[in-house]
Amino acid sequence: MATCATCDETVDTATAAHKVEYQGTVYYFCCGHCQAAFEQEPARYTTEG
Ligand SMILES: [Zn+2]
Ligand SMILES: [Zn+2]
Repeated sequence: MATCATCDETVDTATAAHKVEYQGTVYYFCCGHCQAAFEQEPARYTTEG
């Protein structure tokens, strides 16, 4: 299991239909809307520290 990178909803990685590889890391999303939000502004959801 993973969490949606946008909204922290639980995502089953085995059946996840929405995922994006960004800077070598795969991010999972609960729905296409969350994926679209991530793709528009990935830095907002991947800030380190
Ligand atoms: Zn989500
Ligand atoms: Zn969603």
